Amino acid sequence: MSAPRVLFLAHSAVLGGGERSLLDLAAHWRGEREVMVLGDGPFIEALRKRDVPTAIEPLGALASVKRESGAPGLGALTDVARLATRVAKSARDVDVIHANSQKSFVVAAAAGLLARRPVVWHLRDILTTAHFSSANIRAAVLLANARAAAVIANSQATAAAFIEAGGSAELVHVVHNGLSPEAFDAVSPAAAAAVRRQIAPDGAYVLAAVARLAPWKGQHVVIAATQDLPGTQTWIVGAPLFGEDDYAAKLHAQVKGLELGSRVQFLGERQDVPTILRAADAVVHSAVEAEPFGRVVVEAMLSRRPVIATDAGGVREILRDGDTGLLVKPGDPVALADAVRRLRAMAPALREAMVQRAYDDAVARFSVRAMTRSVEQLLAAVVSDRPRRS
Ligand code: UDP
Repeated sequence: MSAPRVLFLAHSAVLGGGERSLLDLAAHWRGEREVMVLGDGPFIEALRKRDVPTAIEPLGALASVKRESGAPGLGALTDVARLATRVAKSARDVDVIHANSQKSFVVAAAAGLLARRPVVWHLRDILTTAHFSSANIRAAVLLANARAAAVIANSQATAAAFIEAGGSAELVHVVHNGLSPEAFDAVSPAAAAAVRRQIAPDGAYVLAAVARLAPWKGQHVVIAATQDLPGTQTWIVGAPLFGEDDYAAKLHAQVKGLELGSRVQFLGERQDVPTILRAADAVVHSAVEAEPFGRVVVEAMLSRRPVIATDAGGVREILRDGDTGLLVKPGDPVALADAVRRLRAMAPALREAMVQRAYDDAVARFSVRAMTRSVEQLLAAVVSDRPRRS
C-alpha cells in the first residue's frame, strides 16, 4: 500500500504535545506530504530539522478565538474564508487533508469543500466543558458529523468524550500516539548524572514533573505534595505555552508561601527532556482533568523511571496501576505524597521489574511506526472509499 498524498494542517506553531505527535507522523509518512502551519514559531524549526516540507500561513484574527470563546466574530470568520481559500489551493495537489486540532479542522472543513478533498480530523483534545465552551464543543461536533470523512482520536478517552458530546461513533478511530525509544535509549548515564549534579543537592530524592504550566496540569498539587515529603527535590519542568502566566506566578507564590524554595525548582521549558527524566528518581504526572493522551507518561516509561500518574483520561490506557506504574486520584496531594512514599519503600528488585515492564510495554504499544501505519491506512481508505464511516 502506498501512503496517500496528504496536506497536514496545524493551527499552532507552539511546540506542544499535539505538534510533537504530528511531527513524528509527518516525518515518518511514506507518501508525499506537506505540513501547513497557521503561524510561525518553534514547531516550524522542528519540522525543517526533520526535513518535512513546511509552509507557513498567518492565523490572523482566528488567533484570538480561544477554546473557552463562544461564537467567533466577523474578523475570525473572514480569516476562516481567507485561510480556507489558501489551504484549498495547496489541497488540490493532494488526496486528503489531515487537520491536527480543532481550529485547523474548521479551516480544513471549508477548504475540503472548495478543493473537493476529504478531510480527516485528528482529535487530540477531550471535548468537555473542563477545556472548551459548550458552544465551541457543539460547533466542532456538528461540523465533524457533517464534514469529516473520519475522526482519529488519540485515546479511547478522547473518542468517548467526542461521542458523549454528540459526535458520530461510526466516524471515530482510535490511534494512540507513538514515541520513539531512540532519544531515551541514547541518554548516557554520564549526561544524566551531570544534569543531576547541576540541579539537585547530594542525597536528595528527585521527582520530575514535566508538563506545560497550566492549571489543569496540576503543578500546584505536586508542590503541595512536596511539602509532605521531606528529603525530596521537585523539578517543575515546562513553561506556560498558551498564556497561563498568572498560573505560573501563582505557583511561584505557592512555593514561597510554603517556604519550599530550596526543594522546588522551576526549570522552565527544556529541550533535553529525556536527560531530565533519566536524571530523576521518579516522574510525576499530575493533571487534575482527564488527559487526552499524556505523552510524558510514555516518555517516563521509555526513560526507565518509575512513574506516578493521575487516574483519568488517556493515562489509564497507558499505565496499569501497580504493574507498570502507580495511578493516583487527580487533585489529591495527600494521595500523591503517599504514592511517592510507597514507591520509595518498594524493594529495589520489584521497582526495577516494574520499570522494565513499563519500558517493554511502551515500546510494544506506542511505536511511531505503528501509529504512522494506522493513520496511513485510514487515510488511504478514506481516499479510496469516501465518505468513509467505520
Ligand atoms: N515537553 C518538553 N519540554 C518541556 C515540557 C514538555 O519537551 O519543558 C514535551 C514533553 O516531553 C512532551 C510534550 O512536551 O513530549 C507534552 O506532551 P503531553 O502529551 O504530555 O502534554 P500536552 O502539552 O500535549 O498537553
